[in-house]
Amino acid sequence: MTAITLNAPALFDLSDRTAIVTGAGSGIGQRIAVGLAQCGADVACLDVRTDAGLSDTVGLIEATGRRAIAIRVNVTDRASLVEAVERAEKDLGALGVAVNAAGIANANPAEEMSEEQFQTLMDVNLKGVFLSCQAEANAMLKHGRGSIINIASMSGVIVNRGLMQVHYNASKAAVIHLSKSMAMEWVERGIRVNSISPGYTATPMNTRPEMVHQTREFESQTPMRRMATVDEMVGPAVFLASEASSYCTGVDLLVDGGFCCW
Ligand code: NAP
Repeated sequence: MTAITLNAPALFDLSDRTAIVTGAGSGIGQRIAVGLAQCGADVACLDVRTDAGLSDTVGLIEATGRRAIAIRVNVTDRASLVEAVERAEKDLGALGVAVNAAGIANANPAEEMSEEQFQTLMDVNLKGVFLSCQAEANAMLKHGRGSIINIASMSGVIVNRGLMQVHYNASKAAVIHLSKSMAMEWVERGIRVNSISPGYTATPMNTRPEMVHQTREFESQTPMRRMATVDEMVGPAVFLASEASSYCTGVDLLVDGGFCCW
């Protein structure tokens, strides 16, 4: 019999890793930040929010026994991102994991959408992910090790029936391909880059006023007949952050209740 030296549960252990999560003040980013901490990581929590969201995340992480810092950052601002990475490394240690979840969504028919509405969303959802990855990778490349996970969307793969969000869909398709492109640029230097594409997930983004009436539609269109909970994004993120996915790079992991099968 061949001896097995692999300890499979330890593959998911993030003990003593330093992680950065953008969009950590709400929704998917907040829950992933806490999930990484539950697996052992210390987490720098970045968000533009000025309400209690970020401090809630820090409190939840500290309750797990890990360290957390809150940094107010707009992901469209390159200098602030570079500073945030420096502070995360100074306070928590060498950066090993980054999850880029900051994003916005809104809707308007394409023929009426202003240039400003289009550009503002692209600046946050696409340029913000690019700048975040760049700042994070510049630290990780020095250590020769790291895992970056970008939160894209199934809207980067399919077009959501009834939602007029050409800019959002295009931004998410771009995030998926940006992730694959960065994965290939850094594949020989120890950095893995993957994306997660959630389906409809119950978060503040999806409870904004113009969308509330569509929740039932979302549920009926999804093969699993329900929206995801934010908890259901944690396992995929821990998988991609950890050694459990050591041979995965350039992957877009659809977490969509089967949506894209239909
Ligand atoms: P959320 O609850 O609104 O969380 C997003 C967080 O990002 C918010 O705290 C938001 O702050 C912050 N943010 C926005 N612009 C920022 C900026 N320029 N710099 C830094 N932080 C910024 O939304 P969510 O549903 O968790 O979404 C998280 C990610 O998942 C997004 O990329 C979204 O596109 C993606 N996603 C969501 C779903 C879904 O069904 N919910 C499905 C697929 C993909 P403000 O609240 O102040 O804007």
